[in-house]
Amino acid sequence: MKTDRSDILACLRSSEDYVSGQQLCDRLGVSRTAVWKVIKQLKEEGYLIESVPSRGYRLVESPADVYSKSEIASRLHTKWAGQNLIFFESTGSTNPDAKRFAEEGAPHGTTVVADRQTAGRGRRGRSWESPAGSSIYFTVVIRPTFAPEKASMITLVMALSVAEAIHAATGLETGIKWPNDIVVNGKKVVGILTEMSMTPEMNEIQFLVAGVGVNVNHSGPEDFPEEIRQTATSLRIESGRRIDRAALLEQILARFEADYEIFERSCSLSELKTRYESRLVGRDTTVRVLDPAGEYTGISRGITETGELAVEKETGETVLVYAGEVSVRGLYGYV
Ligand code: ATP
Repeated sequence: MKTDRSDILACLRSSEDYVSGQQLCDRLGVSRTAVWKVIKQLKEEGYLIESVPSRGYRLVESPADVYSKSEIASRLHTKWAGQNLIFFESTGSTNPDAKRFAEEGAPHGTTVVADRQTAGRGRRGRSWESPAGSSIYFTVVIRPTFAPEKASMITLVMALSVAEAIHAATGLETGIKWPNDIVVNGKKVVGILTEMSMTPEMNEIQFLVAGVGVNVNHSGPEDFPEEIRQTATSLRIESGRRIDRAALLEQILARFEADYEIFERSCSLSELKTRYESRLVGRDTTVRVLDPAGEYTGISRGITETGELAVEKETGETVLVYAGEVSVRGLYGYV
């Protein structure tokens, strides 16, 4: 469900050469005036578009880090992830928005994106700092065919897709702190919150929403509130350069679509486990498991095909830790 704007941008972006006004009209089934109006608007927004009377239009340069529905949609090459795209300049939190759209029948892959959240959330009712202009906040609606007990694995699938997309876009080494955080140089850059809605009979999943927050272009630690300055960082702080959010989001959605389809084949992490574990932070080291039923330490030995963390206690016994209520820490700090 792309708009004319994103279609026109996509056509211009995919062509090295000029695209004539007539070609745009034919391809998109809109009038010359409509094309002209969109081009004018795009130019006003800072897109550098050459118009040559007998040849047509050519996109010379996009403005840096434009973050809008058209910019994101024009980049997508996915089948379902993000194809139904909803963009808010500001919203409370993209997870409840996505749930609302899902309740109203939004299709699998519907994605809600916001430039700012006023009530961003983490697990167990914690908050997620969500300023404008510097981060990616999005939530994907998933309509699974699998049983509810498999749902928590989606967090791990998403973590893998996001960690690999960031690595590809920035060259940064991304680690996954089981189950749902991504860290760079020991600090958190991404949080993921997956939520599930059950059918009224409570025996099947109605839909899942997987929400992601990525700290992208914060320029220094002072951009984070005092309480998280020691544990949070951004891709720009770590890589030393500004990152184009729309391009990164496109990469994340493309990878998530592919990884989700791999996951769906077996409804397990069997084919993704090796990749996930290669990024698992604290593997084969001592970790502290903050279980509400009692804290304990042990050696993290990797994950199971169903997404639990295997922790070997001093007694030699291996405990399988379920994601739900638990946080894991390094022995001396956050990782
Ligand atoms: P952990 O495993 O670290 O205990 P969690 O996975 O339970 O964390 P999340 O729900 O992912 O935590 O994230 C919420 C926490 O992340 C907050 O309590 C806060 O400490 C921290 N936080 C909040 N906003 C940000 C942000 N923008 N970047 C990094 N960390 C943040």
